[in-house]
Amino acid sequence: MEHKKGKHTVCIHEGQIEDQQFGGAISPIYMATSYPFLDVKEKRYPRYFNTPNQEVISSKVAALEHAESAVPFSSGMAAISTSLFAFLQSGDHVVFQNELYGGSYNLIQQDFHRYGIQYSFTKGLDASHFESEIRENTKVIYMETPSNPLLSITDIRAVADMAKKRGIITMIDNTFASPLNQTPLDLGIDISIHSATKYLSGHSDISAGVVAGSGAHIEKIMLQGRNLGGNLSDFMCFLLERSIKTLALRIEKHNENAQYIADQLSLNSKISKVFYPGLETHKNHDLAKSQMHGFGGMLSFELKAAFDAQVFQKKLLMIKPSMSLAGVESTIIQPSLTSHALLSAEERENQGISDNLLRLSVGLENKEDILNDIEQALT
Ligand SMILES: *Cc1c(COP(=O)(O)O)cnc(C)c1O
Repeated sequence: MEHKKGKHTVCIHEGQIEDQQFGGAISPIYMATSYPFLDVKEKRYPRYFNTPNQEVISSKVAALEHAESAVPFSSGMAAISTSLFAFLQSGDHVVFQNELYGGSYNLIQQDFHRYGIQYSFTKGLDASHFESEIRENTKVIYMETPSNPLLSITDIRAVADMAKKRGIITMIDNTFASPLNQTPLDLGIDISIHSATKYLSGHSDISAGVVAGSGAHIEKIMLQGRNLGGNLSDFMCFLLERSIKTLALRIEKHNENAQYIADQLSLNSKISKVFYPGLETHKNHDLAKSQMHGFGGMLSFELKAAFDAQVFQKKLLMIKPSMSLAGVESTIIQPSLTSHALLSAEERENQGISDNLLRLSVGLENKEDILNDIEQALT
């Protein structure tokens, strides 16, 4: 029987370039933009996504996502836009989940009509909500789970099965879960996308994206990527490789810390609601349990009406307000004033995003210190 390598081993060793010259412990960085021309199909070039350091990331991410192939990009949005444009053309239709990352939402709303691509947003997260939006010309179904900021869970397998029967390509934004907590290809999804700026990087110092899928699907995305040009530099690939070595370790701690904070905040009389898939009170807890390997480092909570979310944030001593997430440091934002500020008050209320809702990216500090900072800010 073949021994299957564990996730920590994969994070550390998979795809690493052997330093043949000096035997160093890490992948050398190859900054070359010119390589010997072998034949028309075999040329290496950064914008062709096939330099040695780019291939390290491809191998590592493919192994973590249980995919045949993967490709790195210069940002999460480069990964998302290139994947969508690879599979959509004028006259096609795409179904999007209604709760989406703001940048994805802007791309769809601001740009799709200029390319003649039609789209619909679901009215909920059940497979039936996706199915009812399908038209004759629907080519892609796109989801994001857990979602931002309420950590709602989409039934990945049910949507994938429904799409497969109709020959529709499925894509998922897997950023919030990370490949350690969720492997969507195992559940029937065709293409899994990450903002690697978040957990894969984990130290708030790299902008990158990755996409994983079958060999044929990734080939198609790479060919589109050659034209759009969102390739990741070799130096950034090196930094990302370094980050991914500790990904499994970091995610275990993010999961542990977030569960602790969610449990403790649930007991706090100054907090009215806590949203975390790992809580039994979460509306999709059983579904999350069935499709995730861990519940992740993101949670949100609502302060009781007597508290002002802005005053609360100013009183935090360690946790910093920040739009970004998934770093080793804990960060917080108020969605009603930031990511969801462009929605009307009524739309926000319909989605369950109150003015007193705060989204917390639980970092890797000692969990008691994170809790203590929140509790002292509430007194
Ligand atoms: C940050 C983020 C993105 C966009 O990634 P960038 O690296 O900023 O381009 C996409 N999806 C989700 C869920 C994100 O959090």
